[in-house]
Amino acid sequence: MRFPLLTLISIISINSCKDSDNEIITSENQQKYKTENVIIVVVDGPRYSETWGDSLHQYQPRLANDLAAEGSVYTNFYNNGVTFTNPGHTAITTGNYQDLDNSGKAIPDSASIFQHWLKESEEDSTKAWLITSKDKLQVLANCQDSLWKNLYMPSTNCGVGGNGVGSGYRKDSLTFIQIRSILNTHHPKLTLINFKEPDGSGHRNDWNAYLKGIRNTDEYVYQIWNLVQSDATYANKTTLFVTNDHGRHLDGHLDGFVSHGDDCMGCRHINLFAIGPDFRKGQILELNRGQTDLSATVAELMGFEFSAGQGSVMRELFK
Ligand SMILES: [Zn+2]
Ligand SMILES: [Zn+2]
Repeated sequence: MRFPLLTLISIISINSCKDSDNEIITSENQQKYKTENVIIVVVDGPRYSETWGDSLHQYQPRLANDLAAEGSVYTNFYNNGVTFTNPGHTAITTGNYQDLDNSGKAIPDSASIFQHWLKESEEDSTKAWLITSKDKLQVLANCQDSLWKNLYMPSTNCGVGGNGVGSGYRKDSLTFIQIRSILNTHHPKLTLINFKEPDGSGHRNDWNAYLKGIRNTDEYVYQIWNLVQSDATYANKTTLFVTNDHGRHLDGHLDGFVSHGDDCMGCRHINLFAIGPDFRKGQILELNRGQTDLSATVAELMGFEFSAGQGSVMRELFK
């Protein structure tokens, strides 16, 4: 009697073990990371020499003093494509460098992280947002690929009044009000933000306003992180990336900080700061990375397929 009973028990236990193992594997796949939300902040057009490349970090005290120890700073992050606003943002959102028209008249060739994520997650469009000071960045919501065009598009609040292409550039202070409102109201899971400074003041050849633009956006980034960490939906479940679309010319090259758009190191060398619950803290990373790697890393964190992008996952960030 004893032997058969034991056999029976052991069969039952093997079966139940198998079932619960499957359950565990499934739940591990769904919750590989703590990150449930990603926010990408693009500060438009500062040079590396006035941001992380300045050893005093005098124009970005929040990043240097309050945030850096909690995240990772890249010292060799680049725009390896066309160093203008729309091409730079397109490399970030589609994972492909493309010489896209910079005026807002053309949409990117390939589908973005927004479209891929909205399709796979089946979330509604209020869960993905483009919130930008520059109206022309509304084009990031769509793409030319016939399999994706006009489909799975994120919500947009771009330019003056949030009215998109043709409405003009909005003040960053007004964009910041919209950011707070949209994050609090809709709790989007995937968001890209653009601040038009310090690019705008650079183009006006106003050095002091250019530096103030770096300081102001540094403060906005800090406020966004505080908002995230004090919100029950976002706290400890949100990853923030802070980067740039492009830099500006090196001193002594063409008109220096006033303009950008070529392949000088001032235009190419940009910032990337990454902070979130799945990332290591306090890292200064010298590894060479580029804008297209950002979308691959977002796809990894959010768990969607993104083979259309040319970048690779920045594994060095992860715990
Ligand atoms: Zn510019
Ligand atoms: Zn240049």
